Amino acid sequence: QNDMAATQITTHKNYICGQWVESVTGRTYQVHNPAHTDQIVGAFQTSGAEDALRAVAAAKEGLAIWGNTPAPARATIIYKALEIMGRRADEMAQAITIEEGKPIGDAAGEVKRSMNIMEYAAGEGRRMFGYTTPSELPNTVAYTVRRPLGIVGIITPWNFPLAIPAWKIAPALICGNALVFKPASATPLSAVKLMEIFEEAGLPPGVLNLVTGPGGQVGNALVESPDVKGISFTGSTEVGTELYAESAKRLKKVQAEMGGKNAVIVLADADMNKAMGGIVSGAFGSTGQRCTATSRVIVEEGVYDQFMAELLDRTSKLTIGDGIDPSIDVSPLASQNQKDKVMEYIGIGTEEGANLVYGGRALSGGDFDQGYYVEPTIFTDVSPDMRIAKEEIFGPVLTVFKAKDLTEAIDISNSVEFGLSSSVYTKDISKAYEYINTVETGMVHVNAPTLGGEVHLPFGGLNSSGVGQREQGTAMVDFFSEVITVYIDHAAEAGERAKFI
Ligand code: NDP
Repeated sequence: QNDMAATQITTHKNYICGQWVESVTGRTYQVHNPAHTDQIVGAFQTSGAEDALRAVAAAKEGLAIWGNTPAPARATIIYKALEIMGRRADEMAQAITIEEGKPIGDAAGEVKRSMNIMEYAAGEGRRMFGYTTPSELPNTVAYTVRRPLGIVGIITPWNFPLAIPAWKIAPALICGNALVFKPASATPLSAVKLMEIFEEAGLPPGVLNLVTGPGGQVGNALVESPDVKGISFTGSTEVGTELYAESAKRLKKVQAEMGGKNAVIVLADADMNKAMGGIVSGAFGSTGQRCTATSRVIVEEGVYDQFMAELLDRTSKLTIGDGIDPSIDVSPLASQNQKDKVMEYIGIGTEEGANLVYGGRALSGGDFDQGYYVEPTIFTDVSPDMRIAKEEIFGPVLTVFKAKDLTEAIDISNSVEFGLSSSVYTKDISKAYEYINTVETGMVHVNAPTLGGEVHLPFGGLNSSGVGQREQGTAMVDFFSEVITVYIDHAAEAGERAKFI
């Protein structure tokens, strides 16, 4: 039971130019706990385009200071923010669970992941490498140097309300940019807390601005503003595609991380215990609402029956309830919309002729009536042309395919428009490499779940899963900076260069 009773609703404000301010619309909206819909998490500003533009104007001021601050000095503020987040880690994890619904252990992992990227990004302050190279001219020095991209819009989804903002904001800050951050409307509390942390850490006014409110207005205003030089977006393929097209018209730099339909292949020689652990946590952990969640399993036919028996047994042992209880494996979906969408896909799967072998129901009765609960659900006899096999469901629904060998399994794996993450379970090194070389995803796992990633390695997908430069790893600096090429002729008098010209 959390202590956010409906009677003590806190109204949170936007953060613009170092001040907590109300939206010019004068309107607010409420966010509630997905596990207890009668509990209000807080009230937040329903901002519009004018608020977004005020934040852009503030960012101009911030950029003038921050862009000229040496990168190692920027790093000291990010290190300070890291220290503050460490102190507030439990509170941050609770905020994530209360507004998004994920199990508290997953939320704690999300806080840790956010801290990891802050640490990694701050370290980049002492690298930020350019390169030098011989010039073709005498007495000439040629080198490259990095400059901030400028004002950048950060637009994030609800499924990782802290980690996704952190893995965009920390890299953007170390590169010297000024930001306008628009979090998902469903999960603004973690965003507010992240602003508080950077404020306490001493970030100058205007460098990091928060504007909450509907994407159609606040997000659009950022895309349309000529002062915004780049957009870092994570969300649905539908919104990302539109945002990319609109930004292209204005020659903005964009990175868009979007949906997934991630598959695991289980070959006959796989360590079944290991595969099962990875698949159950990949499919049903965080209620299947990770972009890297496992939504398809392709099993080599020789082990199919054994696999299915173990999968059903493992799934039946999962506990379902409010994620604030540490013993819970599967918590509610994040919203009524999510619940409706998942239930609709379960209906579609049944109509398409797939075999519903486990779950499939929205849960009701007792505490379940207060949240958006759907049972872990498994379909077999799925064929690659079915909608449940191709479209992102973003919930606890696993589709199972049978394949005669690795080649057919890879064909099925590659038969979707998405290409975010994938995995194979096998002990055969040749088969593992055949898989690595032919599977069409941005992240490839062998004998490990489709989930996650480490912050010092690039994160992102192919095809409809992502466009633009990768996030995290050394790639982060490439997106958030411009490379400037410098030529210096240091000869005392006109010489060879004159001849060349
Ligand atoms: P949406 O695309 O609906 O929203 C993402 C963000 O974009 C939100 O902040 C939203 O605001 C905003 N937005 C909505 N419309 C516009 C617009 N016209 N212009 C600018 N911004 C807009 O996605 P969800 O929040 O529903 O997130 C779930 C999706 O995110 C899933 O499809 C999932 O796969 C994907 N995802 C991808 C990841 C990856 O790295 N590949 C990681 C995590 C999630 P508002 O909330 O106000 O609508």
